[in-house]
Amino acid sequence: MIKFYNSMTNKVEEFIPIKKGEVSLYVCGPTVYGYAHFGNMRPVIVFDTLRRFFTYLDYKVTYVSNITDVDDKLINSAIKEGKSENEIASFYLDNFLDCVTKVNSMLPNYMPRVTENMDSMINFISELVDKGYAYVVDGDVFFRVNKAKEYGKLGNFKIEDLKVGARVEENIKKESPLDFALWKKTDIGVKWNSPWGEGRPGWHTECVVMINSIFKQHLIDIHGGGFDLKFPHHENEIAQSKACYNTYLANYWMHNGFVNFNNEKMSKSIGNVKFAKDVINQYGGQAVRFAMLSTHYRSPFNFNDEIMNSAKKELNKIMMALNQASVKMQLEEKDFSKNIDDLYISRFIDELSNDLNTANALTIIFEVTKELNLSLRKNDMTLVVKQYYTLLDMINILGISYKKINVSIEDKELFNNWEKLKQEGKYEEADKIRKILSSKGMM
Ligand SMILES: [Zn+2]
Repeated sequence: MIKFYNSMTNKVEEFIPIKKGEVSLYVCGPTVYGYAHFGNMRPVIVFDTLRRFFTYLDYKVTYVSNITDVDDKLINSAIKEGKSENEIASFYLDNFLDCVTKVNSMLPNYMPRVTENMDSMINFISELVDKGYAYVVDGDVFFRVNKAKEYGKLGNFKIEDLKVGARVEENIKKESPLDFALWKKTDIGVKWNSPWGEGRPGWHTECVVMINSIFKQHLIDIHGGGFDLKFPHHENEIAQSKACYNTYLANYWMHNGFVNFNNEKMSKSIGNVKFAKDVINQYGGQAVRFAMLSTHYRSPFNFNDEIMNSAKKELNKIMMALNQASVKMQLEEKDFSKNIDDLYISRFIDELSNDLNTANALTIIFEVTKELNLSLRKNDMTLVVKQYYTLLDMINILGISYKKINVSIEDKELFNNWEKLKQEGKYEEADKIRKILSSKGMM
């Protein structure tokens, strides 16, 4: 049984897909106005792992993630850099996708851009206006939160509580300070024609529209995103979906925790914001992935030099064991067919089935690595082969790739020489060869 913590009910629930054997998964994507923050990599890694897990279990997964390529920050970047909004968006989107690839995440099946879906956005907003859930004031369109009966269902609060806490906004156009913009009348930057005049859409509408137009249904299985998007973004998505289609948009809402640096929130004011590209360059994409998966996706992921270096070291241990096993199998010159330890794999799958517990799944990987090293020392090839393939399957499910080392004829000769020299008691010479083999990662 697969279970997930559903943010909508605050409970761990059994996962039952809408269509048997299929999973519809939507994750809020980035706003491409600057280099991707390191924190942006967490949903990229977490939900890619979820997708790989489902795929391993033979589910057909459709993964959609949007690209916000128009908003205030993006327009400001364009003005500052003296470029068009499209140039800015394309440049930073490329940077983001480069980071996605480097942490071994597959690209989503669909990556709709807001600017390419303007007609559907305008149609959707018009529908909300027609139904009385939105109102037009001087070229702006706002969503009427007071009309959304279940507003606060995801965040588990009441509209009344929010009103007490809401600061009095200066925007006198709104009927209530809680109302949010669906369409913004704009003077600067790129704009589109609409029934309400020139402007651009608000952020909260795009995900609802993308889900409806790509999945061709008003309710999907899983909606994911960072914990910081829960309110107001996801609450507002649900309010719009309820208003138009009477659905909560998704049956399961999954939120990943924050990424902290030295136990501190990354923020511009503290000056500790890290770009994804820099962290990936420093430690490598695989180590970044490995480190993030070492923490359960709902807990905060704390990162610093020490944590990243230790992740790198642990990952290296796994790769070394795989290398040695692979080299040994090639030296034996036998055809070792794939053989899996079912017990280990089923324990591994159980951990992931339990609210995607990658942290516990990794401890099983460590166990198998230890066993493999033991089998290598004992020269027990039956176990070496079994543990090698078991380990490979496990890391593949987590999206960690292993590049098999190829033993050349020359390498084989080196191995033979090494054995011979040891037998002859020429330890000094043997050690020289051992060093060469070790530098190739073969020992
Ligand atoms: Zn969204």
